[in-house]
Amino acid sequence: MDHRKPATADQFSIPELTSVTPVGHLAGSRRVLADLVDLLYRQAPVSFVITLVVAAIVGFELWDAQHRKLLLAWEALTVLVTAARALSWFAYFRGARRSEHLERWLRWYALGALATGVLWGIAGAEFFPLQTDERKVFLAFLLAGMLASGIPVFSAFWWVYAAYGVGIVLPFTYVLAIHGTRLHAELALLVPFFFAVNVAVALRLSRVFSDGFRLRHAHERLAQDHADLNNQIQEQIDELLQAQREIEASGRKLALFAERAPIAVFDIDGMRTILDMNPAAENTFGYSATELSGRNLQRMLFPPEEPLNRDEWWSDFMNGRQPASGVRASCMRRDGIEIMCEFSLTPLVNDEGDLISVIVQGRDITQQLEVERVKKEFTSTLSHELRTPLTSIIGSLQLINSGMMGDLEQEVAELTQVAERNGQRLLDLINDLLDIEKIESGKLTLSVEPISIDALVRDALVLNRGFADRYKVRVAVRGDVPVVTVNGDYKRLLQIMTNLISNAAKFSPEGELIDVEVKIYGNTVKVTVEDRGPGIPAEFRPRIFSRFAQADSTYTRQKGGTGLGLAICKRLIEHMNGQIGFLDREGGGSIFYFDLPIAAVDAATPIH
Ligand code: ADP
Repeated sequence: MDHRKPATADQFSIPELTSVTPVGHLAGSRRVLADLVDLLYRQAPVSFVITLVVAAIVGFELWDAQHRKLLLAWEALTVLVTAARALSWFAYFRGARRSEHLERWLRWYALGALATGVLWGIAGAEFFPLQTDERKVFLAFLLAGMLASGIPVFSAFWWVYAAYGVGIVLPFTYVLAIHGTRLHAELALLVPFFFAVNVAVALRLSRVFSDGFRLRHAHERLAQDHADLNNQIQEQIDELLQAQREIEASGRKLALFAERAPIAVFDIDGMRTILDMNPAAENTFGYSATELSGRNLQRMLFPPEEPLNRDEWWSDFMNGRQPASGVRASCMRRDGIEIMCEFSLTPLVNDEGDLISVIVQGRDITQQLEVERVKKEFTSTLSHELRTPLTSIIGSLQLINSGMMGDLEQEVAELTQVAERNGQRLLDLINDLLDIEKIESGKLTLSVEPISIDALVRDALVLNRGFADRYKVRVAVRGDVPVVTVNGDYKRLLQIMTNLISNAAKFSPEGELIDVEVKIYGNTVKVTVEDRGPGIPAEFRPRIFSRFAQADSTYTRQKGGTGLGLAICKRLIEHMNGQIGFLDREGGGSIFYFDLPIAAVDAATPIH
């Protein structure tokens, strides 16, 4: 039985007593037949003994010189028939598969019984006429006895007894009728009558036997069913006990979770009455569990205007029976301090749809909100208080450095150039910080439009020419640029291109070439920037697109940068449904690429 499956009602059904359910390897009626045949054979030795003993008595009583030969011949025949029957008896009990040949064994037995009956019939027919009156009585008495004694021995099958009896009765009746006195002739009429009565008794007995066996089998089946039933009940009890142990264990586990959880957990009922709470809830709200249990959650913790305190909100939640999360509410601690909490509410409903309880999990987010506020303030400071003046400082420096304000002395010019470069680096950093903040707070908005990739590549090359010159590298387009259109934010794509090209320029040895290539793969366009620099160190690869990630080498640090560029690129390109990645370049260097879905393909036109 499958232990995980509970027993179903029909597993307990008890077979009908009269059914022919196989018991052992035999069907019911066949088994009864087997038992009856078995009974016959088991009783056979009684018949052998009676036959031989009575035959000996006959020999002793009827012995005289006149009929000696006849008597000896009869005795020999009787011993022979009994020996043959004994042999078949022996063979039956030695035979391995006797139950398969029941009918054959029964036939042999019936034949043996008939032969024995005929022998007694012959004895009556042959010896009766030759005897004195006294011996006649003896013989008649003997034959009647043999007829009667056959009942218990042969009546497992009434017709076996009948065959035996016919063997005795027919010849004897015949002799009585024709070779005796009138009295004998009358007796000849009575003998078949007695025989018929005996057969009727045998018939009843054979029915009693077969009913007895049938009952015994039914009883065995019942006992078996009873044992099976007991086993099933025991298995079910074991399963239930196991399930109970598992439930207890998981209950303890759950209790431990709640007890050790760093967030406040309340167990409340449908009326918002607190049933239980964990230690973190005690810490968060300053009440002990005994103080709050049995009290109303909303009245104890929330000011009246809070959504959790409003009955409509609660009845909506109760009707919906759906978990609610991210529910923010300001709560009153016991000491009167107001804190901001974020709650998740999970209704526990049983199979019938009845509410068992509501699990309320809450965490104090006052500090988190404060951090967010400070971050926001910082961002706006960066944006307005730093970026705006810095832009105008850089603008002024650019004006001075361009010579429009007149020639500068060599030393002054060098200083203003350093100031412009560092100002620009500072502005890049501020821009990167603002970008990442915008992306992560979900405030990034893209102005998506159809963009021609060849125009994008051309602009990126022009824009980065100055940068490349500074690092004394060349940037060139390899092969033809297919004219395809993608949907994206032009400024942001240019920012990505600039980041990849400027990284490649930063890390390329002087005088080296940076290849930019555009290829179409199915319905995506792949833009690659290939440099001949040091490549990306293996341990740094998994982190390269994370914020503030820089390979920890002096070489990288010498090159400067914030470690934000690639993180921004990844998020930007993903916002445009694209992908960014990098590969090793054969012979040294890296290949950075981004893929974008193609919006439209035009005829390929090479750009130079
Ligand atoms: P930044 O360049 O501003 O430091 P990035 O996010 O663009 O930030 O790059 C992160 C780091 O990845 C770099 O500091 C550098 O260690 C590594 N890196 C980026 N591009 C390359 C490149 N083409 N060759 C070698 N290292 C690179």
